[in-house]
Amino acid sequence: MNFMHLPETASTNTYLKELAVTSDIHGTAVYTWNQLSGYGRHGRYWFSDGANSIAVSIGLKAPSDAEFAPMSIVAGLAVAQAISGFANLDVGLKWPNDIMLDGGKVCGISCERISAEAGAYFVLGIGVNVNNAQFPNELAAVATSLFIKTGRKWSVQLLLNVIVDSVYACYNRLCTEGFAPILADYRRLCINLGRDCVILCGDRKFRGIAIDIDDTGCIILQKECGATEIFASGEVSLRCADETGGYNATGC
Ligand code: ATP
Repeated sequence: MNFMHLPETASTNTYLKELAVTSDIHGTAVYTWNQLSGYGRHGRYWFSDGANSIAVSIGLKAPSDAEFAPMSIVAGLAVAQAISGFANLDVGLKWPNDIMLDGGKVCGISCERISAEAGAYFVLGIGVNVNNAQFPNELAAVATSLFIKTGRKWSVQLLLNVIVDSVYACYNRLCTEGFAPILADYRRLCINLGRDCVILCGDRKFRGIAIDIDDTGCIILQKECGATEIFASGEVSLRCADETGGYNATGC
């Protein structure tokens, strides 16, 4: 991997996508300790806390037979395994790739597929709360950090290296072994399977039990009416039952 450190940037994702216009970004990891306006899935904002948190974007050549959905699952598994091995903690994956520690979100990942002159790439944006002691009010109920959970400070640079290595290794595994063995590992860490949840799809909401992830990375929901429906990660957001007090299903 080729690491590129930026003293400051609006968004490591935006920087890497611009770089892709003129360069081959496969194997490039752009990071900063000063991300000013990071973004996550669906363009939602991502809060970075200087050198207490990781903001890194990784470019990977899109394998010709890998679709969009599996890559976001692959990235989620790779980062979850990295964090859990590094800090010796049990982490869970909220589909598709939020990494959770005891119900709090410790990491968010965005996965974009871009077309550049040199070909198609995935740009993975990874934000990890490492030594954050607190969060802005609007995130206080949802976010957590390794420091908050363990009471100790961690080497942010070391964890960054472990995460980037893990993503690259998991990507190589995808290219050599295919998606099935990765999905099997993913299922073991996924906190939603067998549980009640709500899928938000535009202004429609579907309540039901997440019964499986299919072999393209989509989630299969058994709705309250008994019918099943399949959702792709690019189109929807998932809320666990305990976050869904205010949601009433609008479709079946
Ligand atoms: P979700 O389903 O949790 O709304 P998402 O998976 O669709 O999020 P992400 O890109 O993972 O999208 O995260 C963006 C969301 O995460 C924001 O809408 C915000 O609520 C929350 N968030 C932003 N910064 C942080 C952070 N540092 N730690 C935890 N959560 C954050």
